[in-house]
Amino acid sequence: MKELKSIPTQMMQLSELTSIGCGGAARVCFPKTGNELKEVLSFCLSCGIAFYPLSNGTNVLPSDTGYRGMIVCFKNMKGFHLSEGKLSTYAGESVAKLNEACKRQGYLFAPFMTGVPALVGGAIAMNAGVAEHHMADIVRSVTATDGKNTYEFSRKECKFSNKSSIFLRERLCILQASFQIQKASFSEIEEKFLFYRDKRKHLPTGKSMGCIFRNEDFPSGKLIEECGLKGARIGGAVVSERHANFIINENQAKASDIKKLIVLVKETVFQKTGRRLTEEIQYIL
Ligand SMILES: Cc1cc2nc3c(=O)[nH]c(=O)nc-3n(C[C@H](O)[C@H](O)[C@H](O)COP(=O)(O)OP(=O)(O)OC[C@H]3O[C@@H](n4cnc5c(N)ncnc54)[C@H](O)[C@@H]3O)c2cc1C
Repeated sequence: MKELKSIPTQMMQLSELTSIGCGGAARVCFPKTGNELKEVLSFCLSCGIAFYPLSNGTNVLPSDTGYRGMIVCFKNMKGFHLSEGKLSTYAGESVAKLNEACKRQGYLFAPFMTGVPALVGGAIAMNAGVAEHHMADIVRSVTATDGKNTYEFSRKECKFSNKSSIFLRERLCILQASFQIQKASFSEIEEKFLFYRDKRKHLPTGKSMGCIFRNEDFPSGKLIEECGLKGARIGGAVVSERHANFIINENQAKASDIKKLIVLVKETVFQKTGRRLTEEIQYIL
């Protein structure tokens, strides 16, 4: 690969950058500003190098052979501004940190994201959330780039859908976003956070990507459980006994073990119920 002179890049194992803890080597860079991001993307475009935007790596499955292009990791693109019922933030801020900052000033930001280990860019691209709310409910606008131009998207233009958005579908890199936040009393804020925290008590611990499959008009976890797949195992990967929509990397699973287990779950569910599961997780290909 040619050199990107002004921004350091390094070879890393994707297992270090993903919550599932597997994946081979890739070249990674950590732009800190919008200008650095644009520089990286235009370098990739001019050299014909593929790029993959990565935030906290909690909903992605890399491959054991790594990634041949550039992983553009947003973890260092930080900074936010909070005032008068409006929150603007760079893509690399953690949603949990923003929730805390808003709480301290008497605002509700995204209490429904309690326990979701996301950065802003990943959360918006995935339209993350729970049954009650998703990021689509609170986004005001998003600034994103394709490496050539930078665009401003209104909420409607983000084309949010079930665990997806225009940014995911068109591989646009989110740089910044602004959100509507709600003034609330201390007790209202505490009540909301407790509600969402309590709902997550049953969720599995261990290395995972959260839910593997989208919930469509039926809860995928329940369907997988009804097909007797809890505890199904390939190599070091296992379908969680606590929540059947989670696959846990229990014992140094390879990405290929996890992929095979996903295929096994999909095929078994289809054979037994006639329903087709669709992955929510994204493959780094
Ligand atoms: C224990 C656990 C619990 C979870 N619980 C939930 C839950 O309750 N609800 C839920 O919705 N999800 C849940 N998840 C999944 C995951 O945390 C969310 O989808 C989260 O929003 C992903 O954010 P991230 O920063 O890790 O993004 P990543 O995993 O890094 O990226 C996800 C996708 O977004 C794209 N992307 C990342 N950053 C950008 C950017 N700046 N611009 C454009 N595209 C970008 C990536 O290319 C990738 O396709 C859970 C995961 C774990 C491990």
